[in-house]
Amino acid sequence: MPKTDVLVLGAGIVGVSAALQLAKRGVSVALIDRRSVGEETSYGNSGIIGGAGVYPNAFPREWSKVLQVAFKRAPQANYHFRSLLAVAPWLFAYWRASTRSRLEDSARALHPLQSRVAAEHEALAIEAGASRYLRKGGWISIYRRPGALEALAPELALGAELGVPATVLDVAGARALEPHLAPVFTSAIHWSSVVTLSNPLAVTQAYAERFKALGGRVLKGDARTLARSGGSWSVDTEEGRYQASDAVIALGPWSPDVLSPLGLDFPLGIKRGYHRHFSSQGEAALSRPVLDPEIGYVLCPMEQGIRLTTGAEFADRDAKPSPVQFDRILPHARRLFPLGGVADGRTWMGCRPCFPDSLPVIGRAPGQAGLWLNFGHGHMGLSFAAVSGRLIAEMMTGAATFCDPAPYRAERFN
Ligand SMILES: Cc1cc2nc3c(=O)[nH]c(=O)nc-3n(C[C@H](O)[C@H](O)[C@H](O)COP(=O)(O)OP(=O)(O)OC[C@H]3O[C@@H](n4cnc5c(N)ncnc54)[C@H](O)[C@@H]3O)c2cc1C
Repeated sequence: MPKTDVLVLGAGIVGVSAALQLAKRGVSVALIDRRSVGEETSYGNSGIIGGAGVYPNAFPREWSKVLQVAFKRAPQANYHFRSLLAVAPWLFAYWRASTRSRLEDSARALHPLQSRVAAEHEALAIEAGASRYLRKGGWISIYRRPGALEALAPELALGAELGVPATVLDVAGARALEPHLAPVFTSAIHWSSVVTLSNPLAVTQAYAERFKALGGRVLKGDARTLARSGGSWSVDTEEGRYQASDAVIALGPWSPDVLSPLGLDFPLGIKRGYHRHFSSQGEAALSRPVLDPEIGYVLCPMEQGIRLTTGAEFADRDAKPSPVQFDRILPHARRLFPLGGVADGRTWMGCRPCFPDSLPVIGRAPGQAGLWLNFGHGHMGLSFAAVSGRLIAEMMTGAATFCDPAPYRAERFN
């Protein structure tokens, strides 16, 4: 049976980054996925390395917004009636974690990761030869309602305390950065330190190539064959059963498929999201992503065209796609920016793996020697991948960790 030091299960951006961070530290790693590298959730995101503001994404606290979602009138969110009963406990926990003080707690707990997201990706991208996909210049959120920024004052104050650069702009200021935005908004914020990607899949693939150049192995296999015997973990791959003393679960939304049979249950919710690529009319162009939070979409300039990404859909992970949110957001998006036709005729769907407190789980699996967890990065998995990979690699190699990993431990749900 082939042996290695570590099995990393899941080759999305989180697993690939962890495998690369381990390989950089001289650990021999087999990275195992049932598909090719980066083809699931990590493929179709908005490419933003850094958050949508300072607080994590929140469940609406105003009843008017909750009712809008309930009556399927909200462009930001959709849900499947048949999934409601199953999703309800998670939604309740998420709603409870969405008070201002709990959001502030989460933002502070995430800050050690958040403050390093760009630097860690830049370091990996340089050695993987992927710097050309990284764009500086930040991104913009626009606000339609006059006075919208007043409601953001506490979040902006926390951002100022934590050193998150955010410049408030009027319409002219925003259009100086993005001249093709129509003046359908009243104010904007430029999150200037954020790095964005022009092709998230290409970055994941470049990291995987760098991992292979360092001696790592990328294998096809089913993580659900994970088994423990004689103090080792093993997994079946197309190249036989691989064995290692340690295994890392980086299966994103599929992590429970492997953990539940081991008796490890987590409150992991799924927020499905969609994208479509569009051309632009005439010479119109965007040089950075633009978020329209009151409607609930992002316009992201990508190599494939302008990627229009949706907010959340609460549904069974494996249910058929139901991209109804495009009908609600497209008229608004077209009024903001002159989108042309659909570029590749395809609607993509991904599943954000989300914990109610918006923190990932990074660290040892309780009660399972040699098993490590690195999943549940929610809306921020692309951002946190490189830095989470560094943290878990430091923990696994017994090095001093760059931050205290306690806030991300699995035991917080006990
Ligand atoms: C619309 C949308 C926009 C987003 N925008 C952003 C953004 O701008 N910035 C940001 O930071 N984040 C964003 N995200 C979130 C981000 O994309 C995810 O958090 C991240 O991709 C999760 O990465 P992952 O590696 O954990 O999961 P995945 O990429 O889903 O990887 C999990 C891997 O596990 C594999 N797998 C599953 N089951 C098995 C099995 N049984 N055996 C073997 N392999 C298996 C899958 O094939 C997959 O490759 C967005 C998400 C969506 C949906």
